[in-house]
Amino acid sequence: MTRPGGKSRGASATEATRTAPAPARPPAAGAGDPHFSPRRLVVKIGSALLVDDDSGDVRRAWLDALADDVAALRAAGTDVLIVSSGAIAVGRRHLGLTGRAIKLEEKQAAAATGQIRLAHAYQETLARHAITVAQILLTPEDTEERRRHLNARATIDQLLKLGAVPVINENDTVATEEIRFGDNDRLAARVAQMVSADTLVLLSDIDGLYTADPRKAADASRIAVVNEVTPEIEAMGGDAPTGYSSGGMVTKLAAAKIALAAGCRMAITFGKRMNPLATLAAGAPATWFLPSATPLSARKRWIAGHVAPAGAIVADAGAVAALGRGKSLLPAGVTRVDGRFERGDLIRILGPDGREVARGLSAYAAADVARIMGRRSAEIATVLGYRGRDEVIHRDDLVMSA
Ligand code: GLU
Repeated sequence: MTRPGGKSRGASATEATRTAPAPARPPAAGAGDPHFSPRRLVVKIGSALLVDDDSGDVRRAWLDALADDVAALRAAGTDVLIVSSGAIAVGRRHLGLTGRAIKLEEKQAAAATGQIRLAHAYQETLARHAITVAQILLTPEDTEERRRHLNARATIDQLLKLGAVPVINENDTVATEEIRFGDNDRLAARVAQMVSADTLVLLSDIDGLYTADPRKAADASRIAVVNEVTPEIEAMGGDAPTGYSSGGMVTKLAAAKIALAAGCRMAITFGKRMNPLATLAAGAPATWFLPSATPLSARKRWIAGHVAPAGAIVADAGAVAALGRGKSLLPAGVTRVDGRFERGDLIRILGPDGREVARGLSAYAAADVARIMGRRSAEIATVLGYRGRDEVIHRDDLVMSA
C-alpha cells in the first residue's frame, strides 16, 4: 500500500456540494481511493470485527491482516492511532457474564479483564512488524477539558514521534453512565480532533451510509460523499440499535459531525474483510465525509471559541512581531503575567501597549511563566526544576486576534 503523497488533498472542493444520495459505484480496478491519503490516521475498530461472537476470542487472523495494513501505512510515513472496542466483549466470557444482557457494573468489570487481553493481542500482532504498542484509556473529559486535552495530546504526539502505535479505548471501568462516551465511534472522533488527525476511518459491518436501511429497502443506495450532516442525512441514519456496545449509524453520524468540525475527513467502510485499510486505499466502497476546513484551522477555532480567558501575558515588541510571522511565544519574549491560570488554560497575549494580539493555550501555569519569563528556553529546567516545553504557547495552540 502506498500513500498518494497528499495529491488529492483539497480535491474535496470540487465534490463539495453533493450531499444528496449518489448511487454506489464499484471502484475502477487499481484506481485507488482519491480521499484516502492520510498523514495522521485514526482507525476505529468495533467489537463485532475483532471478537468472535461464539468463542469471545480475538479474531487473530483478521487482526494480523489489519496489523499488516498498519505497518504498511507506517512505513509510508503515516501516523496511525487505533481506537479499539472489544474489552467488554472479550472480558465478559472470562467472568461468566454470557447469555443475557449485562448491567453497567458488569460491563465495567468485563472491560477491566478484557482490556488486558485486548492490549496483549495488539502488542503481539504489531510486534510481528517490530512496532511498539502504547495503551491509552480515556474519558470524555480527557478530550474535552482543555488542560487534560493538552496533556493527552502531548503524550500521544510523543508516542507517535517515538514510533509507537497508540491503542485507545474508553476507560470503561471508571466512567459511569452519564459521563461516558459509551460508544467508540464518538471517542474515535474526539481522539481525531485532539491529535489533529486528517483522516478517521470507522471500520464497520456496513460499507457506508445508505439512503435507507438496506436490509429493509431494496432500493436503498450508498451515499459516496457527504459534506455536511444535515437533518436529511441524519434521518437516513435511523434509530440506535439495542445492544451492549455498538451504536449503529446514529453514533457514526455523531462522530462525523465531530470530525467535520475538526477538519478531519471520515470514512465509514466495511471492515470485516481481511486488510480493510489496504482495501479502502484501493477504492473499496465507503461513505466519505469531507470537511471544508483543515485540522489546524479547525483547532484554532476550537481554541478561540467558547471560553473566557483565564489570564494574560504581556509580550515585548520582538515577540509580538515573531507571533505575526507564525512563530511560537517563547519565555524570552514575556515581560509580565496577569491572572491565575493553569497549564492548558486559554490566555490572552498582549503587546507592550496593552492591546490584545493573540490568544492561546498556555503550556505553563501563571506562577511558572512568572519564573521563566525573560529567560532562554534552555534555562527552563534549571529555573523550574523540571523540563517543560520550550514554548510558553506553541504556535499550533495560538490564534492571532483580529
Ligand atoms: N469501550 C467498549 C469496549 O471496549 C466498547 C464501546 C463500543 O463498542 O463502541 O468494549
